Amino acid sequence: MKGADKIHYYEVAISGSPLRSTFSYHFDDELAVGQRVAVNFAGRNVIGYIAGISSKPQFKTKPISKPLESQVYLSPEDVALINWTVENYLASIGKVFDLFFPPGKLLKSNSHVIPISPELPFSTPLKMSDALKLLGKEQFQKLKSQRKLKILHSYEKKLPSKRRIKLLKLPLSIKTLESLKLTKSQKKVIDYLLSVEKATPRELMNALSLKSRSPIDTLLRKEILVLEEVEEDETDRWTIEAIEKLTAEQEHVREAIVKDFSGVHYIFGLTGSGKTEVYFKIMERVLNRGKSVIYMVPEVSLTPQLMARIRGAFPGREVRVYHSYMSPAKRQRIWLDAVNGEIDILVGTRSALWIPIQNTGLIIVDEEHDSSFYQQTPPHYDAVEVAIKKGKLYGIPVILGSATPRVERYFRAKSGEFKLHSLVNRPVGQLPELEIRDLRNNKDYIIPRKTFEEIEKTVKLGHQVFVFVHRKGFSNYVVCANCGNILKCPNCDISLTYHKHDGILKCHYCGYTIPPPTKCERCGSKALSARGFGTERVEHELQKRFPDLSIMRMDRETISNPNQYEKALRKIESKEAKIVVGTKMIAKGLDFPSIGLVVVIDADRIINLPNYDSAENAFQLISQISGRSGRGVHGRAIIQTFEPEHRVMKTALENDYKGFFETEIEIRKLLKYPPFSIFVEIIVEAEKEIQCQNAAKELYEKLVNTVKGSEILEPVTPAVKKLFGKFRMKIHLKLFDRGELRNLLKVLQKNPAGVDVIVNSNGGSL
Ligand code: ADP
Ligand code: ZN
Ligand code: ZN
Repeated sequence: MKGADKIHYYEVAISGSPLRSTFSYHFDDELAVGQRVAVNFAGRNVIGYIAGISSKPQFKTKPISKPLESQVYLSPEDVALINWTVENYLASIGKVFDLFFPPGKLLKSNSHVIPISPELPFSTPLKMSDALKLLGKEQFQKLKSQRKLKILHSYEKKLPSKRRIKLLKLPLSIKTLESLKLTKSQKKVIDYLLSVEKATPRELMNALSLKSRSPIDTLLRKEILVLEEVEEDETDRWTIEAIEKLTAEQEHVREAIVKDFSGVHYIFGLTGSGKTEVYFKIMERVLNRGKSVIYMVPEVSLTPQLMARIRGAFPGREVRVYHSYMSPAKRQRIWLDAVNGEIDILVGTRSALWIPIQNTGLIIVDEEHDSSFYQQTPPHYDAVEVAIKKGKLYGIPVILGSATPRVERYFRAKSGEFKLHSLVNRPVGQLPELEIRDLRNNKDYIIPRKTFEEIEKTVKLGHQVFVFVHRKGFSNYVVCANCGNILKCPNCDISLTYHKHDGILKCHYCGYTIPPPTKCERCGSKALSARGFGTERVEHELQKRFPDLSIMRMDRETISNPNQYEKALRKIESKEAKIVVGTKMIAKGLDFPSIGLVVVIDADRIINLPNYDSAENAFQLISQISGRSGRGVHGRAIIQTFEPEHRVMKTALENDYKGFFETEIEIRKLLKYPPFSIFVEIIVEAEKEIQCQNAAKELYEKLVNTVKGSEILEPVTPAVKKLFGKFRMKIHLKLFDRGELRNLLKVLQKNPAGVDVIVNSNGGSL
């Protein structure tokens, strides 16, 4: 009974809370750091996490209601990782704890009452509810405080059942289908299914913009369509055959890594140089020793092709993918499998990194430069840095790879912090020939005649074309030709984008939509004109010029989930899609042999963003997208620009990352940007503009008094001064000493809500 009557004090982090501090609670039993508990916070019953053990505080504490589970899922290393993340990214501690758990209630608990004293009216354990009924609440409490009964929580695992989905299929032959009399919309349905084979009713309705389900239902009734029920997992069985043997260059890198299998290894390998295959060979070794692998990719969009390759290379292994687009039930199932050590390879986006997976032997971060590894919503953090730290805490090796390293990390690799390896040859195909297309004297600035001709030539050769456009939508903004008024979102200080296909104007930040107005809201003129362009416009121009070619658009409007993405990729693989117009989504990691030409329509847009790393991001994007070309056939890439003399264009053209790096690092040094400082952006938000300005000023003064040896700039109005209906101000800091992060955190802990902090952002913040 030792310890049972002692009161214990704990620091508790509150789930979901934006606050950066923990709160003191007590409990009459011992709890473990990392354990989940139920507490009352600000009058609500919420989930909390034991963040630390504390001594009895001066003030009166509230009790912890109960532990949520008897099992403690987080190890001391996991808790250390949380603390590190909170300190280095000034994140809310409760939200960082939350990252470790899948959404939804994890376990179902059962409470039983155990009789201890013989004077109780029952002698065997009773369900809590029955005991309460029998004794009454008051008597129950009294007996409990006299320790005449004891409550035991037992937890029964509630496993979410596998989700089943219904897919539409065509059971008839094409010949039979052709002989049927069908309505126009029924025909559309059939044509679509002929191209994709299977689809859920919902996908089909979205893809065809059907207003009702009736054409589908009619076809089902007539048995022209059938519904097939399958388990969700079985829908993705795309497999790509494994390669036979590494090249000498790849083998050399593999050997160097396995010989010194600890710390952080960096594979700097040109696009298509076979980094993925090197990872695979190293993974094989780890798996054969009974350990599991976490394989991180920047975006969900990269998982279908990678999974297909992994299935080919590791038949029989338990491979799972985990990302935030999945249903909560599915995430929970994978999470529990991982925790129970039933997964060999876990592929996922940054959310996968936080799964407390058993027995991890290696972490791989592919395309480490990618800005998607940086979480743009709170809690902000850089998943690559967290992966490196996790490796260190767990004592397992981490492999980072990219053709266009993040400047800070290449700097660290060169200075010996990471072990650097290079791959400079493509095992198949060759690097594409790059060409800069000067747009300055060009009337047709979207797609010049010469570009059209080259697209045509490529398609005639039987090769495919990727066309990259920075933004989605038809036009970027609508302006009144009479008074110059630009139509903006009422919630955000951002122009509305015109989407022709859906016939709407849309805010890309908050999703606000309106039908296009007929006259100017300010002056009443009818001379409204749509300017600028996005993917939809480029697709439109291409389709006008090549009416018979199959052109596919890939952006967040046409592709909103991994299933649609996989289907689109298979359309590229089968060469059904001849031209693909897309955003960043097509710039990354994809490997298709028949891409003969890549066109970057608007390279300048990225370079001129007001971020410290915009040159780096532009170089990466241009190199990565052009790197999709020439993987099997002879490849070319055309980069269209109004600034052909820009250093980013020149070095990208020569495929000269090192040249780009040398200049960039000098500039960073001069301007004291990372890696020569820790660059912190603090965003203050408020309902009213004046409140926001005052709060920013107040915070600024506190910072100047507390954070020493740093450069702190006065609050400024950011480029986007209003977002989701709130006004914003920004304070920039350059810290020259990591220790100052603690002082900064202290200030922020006293500053309650309404302050967002971004440390060393990747790809900028609004
Ligand atoms: P990266 O990840 O560096 O972009 P990948 O691993 O995707 O490169 O390789 C590019 C292409 O080259 C892939 O189609 C891959 O199958 C092929 N490849 C890589 N290594 C070899 C090899 N040793 N032998 C044959 N083909 C290879
Ligand atoms: Zn006007
Ligand atoms: Zn908006």
